[in-house]
Amino acid sequence: MENCIFCKIVNKEIPSKFVYEDDDTVAFNDLNPQAPVHILVIPKKHFASINELDDEKVMSALFKAVKNVTKKLGIEEYRTVINTGESAGQTVFHIHLHILAGRPLNWPPG
Ligand code: AMP
Ligand code: ZN
Repeated sequence: MENCIFCKIVNKEIPSKFVYEDDDTVAFNDLNPQAPVHILVIPKKHFASINELDDEKVMSALFKAVKNVTKKLGIEEYRTVINTGESAGQTVFHIHLHILAGRPLNWPPG
């Protein structure tokens, strides 16, 4: 998708070091980390949010990627977040799953 910053990262138009990659997903460090570990997992294919995500292969690939990334980094306890829509805090409209770890994470988040 043109002018999508995360598509540009997938296509390597914006240089980024992937902490993980498979056929359907990539993962990289968040630019503005909210915890010592803050990784974004995204599908290579563009979907704006959960609301547009209609590909079951991609749905399962995202969960598999979370398991693989955390295993690779040796993280057993972490928070996953997907913001959907502006009022929920979504700022980049290419679906992404946040993985946060490395500090106590309060619940509810507020
Ligand atoms: P959200 O607010 O859920 O849409 O999350 C978007 C996240 O993308 C934020 O945590 C940003 O810090 C992060 N972000 C934006 N641009 C980049 C980038 N070029 N590389 C890595 N992370 C980014
Ligand atoms: Zn995109």
